[in-house]
Amino acid sequence: MDHVVVVGAGLAGIRSIEALRAHGFAGRITLVGEEPHRPYDRPPLSKAVLLGAADSSVVDSDLDALDVTLRLGTAAKGLREGVLETTDGELQFDGLVVATGATPIRLRGEGHQHVLRTIDDALALRAKLLPETRVVVIGAGWIGAEVATAAARAGCQVTVVEAADAPLAGALPVGAYTIPWYAEAGVELRLGTKVGTVDPDGLTLLTGERIPADVVVTGVGVRPAVAWLEGSDVELDNGVLVDEHLRTFAPNVVAVGDCANWWSRRFGRRMRIEHWDNALNGPDVAAATLMGEQAVFDPVPYFWSEQFNHMVQYAGHHAGARMVLRGDPERDAGWSVCWLTDGHRLSAILTVDRPRDLLQGRRLVESRQRVDVARLADPGVTLRDC
Ligand code: FAD
Repeated sequence: MDHVVVVGAGLAGIRSIEALRAHGFAGRITLVGEEPHRPYDRPPLSKAVLLGAADSSVVDSDLDALDVTLRLGTAAKGLREGVLETTDGELQFDGLVVATGATPIRLRGEGHQHVLRTIDDALALRAKLLPETRVVVIGAGWIGAEVATAAARAGCQVTVVEAADAPLAGALPVGAYTIPWYAEAGVELRLGTKVGTVDPDGLTLLTGERIPADVVVTGVGVRPAVAWLEGSDVELDNGVLVDEHLRTFAPNVVAVGDCANWWSRRFGRRMRIEHWDNALNGPDVAAATLMGEQAVFDPVPYFWSEQFNHMVQYAGHHAGARMVLRGDPERDAGWSVCWLTDGHRLSAILTVDRPRDLLQGRRLVESRQRVDVARLADPGVTLRDC
């Protein structure tokens, strides 16, 4: 292999380049990225950047030492065997890494909708978060909750509109425990509220009711950014279909990060994870696969969210598992939720302001060792001793 092209200059893209060099690849590497920016981290966008504590989150990586040719401000348009078509001409490759991430979903309507995916999105939104500004956030998911946190701290009048009957409903069955956090932060939370259109001066709900707003932020999820691969040999289904080695169906093409839908040996199902840890760790396996080594991607998925002064962390996969509470969300400052499969094995853990539970719980998910359920339900017993 002489030339590897990495498409997508996000975290998964830059980590893929570092991993290729770490695995001994000495050929040429070209990084093609649609944004004009060097690779940066996205988690700070809805936290430090929106709060005004940082203006940039560039990934600490020595691009010169990595000997990369940068093609920034260039989008991939199509793929055929050994050739990447871009907005700036064609590139021949021997190996290709697809790391194009995901794109925010927008709703119908003529009004301006802010979304939060890029540093430019974050800086544009931050400039609008002035005291007394009426900010309506659509969606009480991870992004919506973090945007509401920042907007409330900036002194805005914040309303969060959510179609489901609890926050985080798309991700977790325990989001109802976070409802009080909104009122405590002075944020109005309207559940079971469906948006019809975004208008120049606010929202029109499906019921016909109008909600006035100066700023509308749409945080209703993302779609994998893979439209450019339609019609190629790369198979698409909820992202790029890859095997447990992150290999696509096209020769010498791998996929990583938010856009990759991989086969998880550990959980016996396909997974597409839109979280930082996944974009950080997948590239090592993808690079090994391109180099002809035998590596398997089999992580315990992990993510965190900082919202309303709470640190929320999650590890594992909880579908189909029995839920056990550790602590009382209504009374305790910190609490956790454990999910068990086979009666006694931890398959996932969610912690709120209990980082030690997360650390130890993650190890239990990884090891699959049996736990004592009665001790697990007692927040006074450390998880290591369950
Ligand atoms: P991206 O970071 O999306 O990078 C993909 C890059 O590819 C982009 O720069 C894009 O412009 C480019 N691209 C797309 N299409 C093309 C094309 N056709 N040609 C060329 N380039 C293209 N995760 C957590 O675990 N915890 C958090 O607290 C957290 N907070 C977040 C806050 C925000 C505001 C956002 C947006 C995400 C957050 N995440 C968080 C998720 C995490 O940042 C993502 O999972 C991670 O960025 C995915 O990395 P990636 O490299 O796969 O994709």
